[in-house]
Amino acid sequence: MQRNYPLRNLNTWGVGGLCTIYDSPVTSEEACISVAAALKQDLGIYILGGGSNVLVSDDPIRSAVLHTQKLDFIKLISSGIDGGHVEIEAGAGVPVKKLLALAIDKEWTGLEFLTGIPGTLGGALWGNAGANGCGFGGLVKEISAIDWNARAVRFGEETLNWEYRACPLDEGKTALVTSCVISLRKASRKSIFKSIKNFAAMKKGQPLGRKTAGCVFKNPPGMSAGYLLDECGCKGMRIGGAVVSDSHANFIENERDALSRDIYKLCELCREKVLELRGVHLEYEIKFLGDFKKD
Ligand SMILES: Cc1cc2nc3c(=O)[nH]c(=O)nc-3n(C[C@H](O)[C@H](O)[C@H](O)COP(=O)(O)OP(=O)(O)OC[C@H]3O[C@@H](n4cnc5c(N)ncnc54)[C@H](O)[C@@H]3O)c2cc1C
Repeated sequence: MQRNYPLRNLNTWGVGGLCTIYDSPVTSEEACISVAAALKQDLGIYILGGGSNVLVSDDPIRSAVLHTQKLDFIKLISSGIDGGHVEIEAGAGVPVKKLLALAIDKEWTGLEFLTGIPGTLGGALWGNAGANGCGFGGLVKEISAIDWNARAVRFGEETLNWEYRACPLDEGKTALVTSCVISLRKASRKSIFKSIKNFAAMKKGQPLGRKTAGCVFKNPPGMSAGYLLDECGCKGMRIGGAVVSDSHANFIENERDALSRDIYKLCELCREKVLELRGVHLEYEIKFLGDFKKD
C-alpha cells in the first residue's frame, strides 16, 4: 500500500493527480484485506483496471485506488470434450488482449468482439464493453467479487443483467470484481480470424494510437453519438491540449499535455452543443475518478 500515488501513468489519457492510497492486490484474499483497510480509514474506494475508460481528476483524490493489474491469471476449468464447450476462469486484471490471443491460439470462439478494445477483463465486465451489439452476455457463467463488508461473494449468470454499457452487478453490493468464469466454444482458427477481421473493420476511423479513452458518450437509443457530435460541428473543437478527434467525433484526444479539467470542459461543451442543436441529452460512457467542476 502506498500513499500519495500518481495516477497519470495508469490511464490511457495520461492525465490526473495523486490518490491518497494505492494498492495492487495479487489475490482475492489480498483484495479483501485492501478493501477492509480502506474502509477502516474511511476512504472511498475506486477500482482501476487498464484506465482506458476513465477520466482521472488533476486534483488530489481522497480515495483508495485499488489497481487490479496483478489479479492476472487464466485457468482452464473444462476443456470442451462434450459439445465443444470450454470453460475458463480469468482474473479481473487479465488484459483482454491477452485473453483474446489465448482464445485464438487454442481455437476458442466467443471473444472476438474484444478486438481492438484495450484494458482489463474486470473493466470490460464492469462497463459491459463490446462492439456491434456483441458482448459478455451469454458467455459469463459466474463473477467473483468483494462486497462492501470486505467479503468474497459470487454472482451466478442468472443474477447478471447485461445491458448496453452498464455494469451487470449491483454496484451498491460490490466493491470490485476479482475474477469470472467464461464459457467458450471450439471453432476453427480460420472462422475466428474471419470474425476478428469483421470487428477490426468496424474500428476503422477511430484514432488508434492516440491518447484517448475510447468513446466518451454512449450511443442514444437508435442513434450514433459520434454522428450527432459530427453533425453539430464538434470535430476539431479544443480546450487547452484536448481536442475532439478529426477522425471520430466521439473520441477526445490528449494532443499535448492536456489537463483532465480541459478534457472535462470539452466533453461538457460537446454535450451542450448536441443538446442545443439536436435536443439530445448525451450520457457519458467514460467513468470519472475524483471531482470535476464545469468552471
Ligand atoms: C482506443 C480505444 C478503443 C476502445 N474501444 C472500445 C470498444 O470498442 N468498446 C467498448 O466497450 N469500449 C471501448 N473502449 C473503452 C475501454 O477500453 C473499455 O471500456 C474497457 O473495457 C475498460 O477496461 P479498463 O480495464 O481499462 O477499465 P478502467 O478504465 O480501468 O475502468 C473503467 C470502469 O470499470 C471499473 N472497474 C475496472 N476494473 C474493475 C474491477 N475489477 N471491478 C470493479 N470495477 C472495475 C472502474 O472503477 C471504472 O468505473 C476503448 C478505449 C480505447 C482507448
